[in-house]
Amino acid sequence: MTNLSKKSLVSSTTSKVMRANRGRDTSPEKKLRHSIHRQGLRYAIDVRPETDLNRRADIVFRSARVAVFVNGCFWHGCVRHFCEPKKNRAYWSSKIKKNRERDRQTYRLLTRRGWKLFVIWEHQDLEMSAKKIAIEVRSRRA
Ligand SMILES: [Zn+2]
Repeated sequence: MTNLSKKSLVSSTTSKVMRANRGRDTSPEKKLRHSIHRQGLRYAIDVRPETDLNRRADIVFRSARVAVFVNGCFWHGCVRHFCEPKKNRAYWSSKIKKNRERDRQTYRLLTRRGWKLFVIWEHQDLEMSAKKIAIEVRSRRA
């Protein structure tokens, strides 16, 4: 692949990713929820796993203490797909860096309190992820 075509491929992926991440009902998250729902499981959406911690998870199975984060490749700085926009480079790189730090801190806080976390990237196979999540939830409830 030439440098030129590689570059245009990355930037088109980035803009697609940016478009897909505006609201909380981003499409990878919806897809994952639907797959989990089809496995017969119910969950809370966009809530705090621990009420005294100001951190939300995208999908929460409270009784099983399983929390799922669906990370957009752009906003959460995926190592494979994050690519700095050409404009406002400094702004974006510091913003994404802060997001990643906050993510890591959230994962640490919840893991310490006995939560099993699934961090699912939007580029991952969502159907497969839903199956793994369902297995974990069922085994922790049993
Ligand atoms: Zn990615």
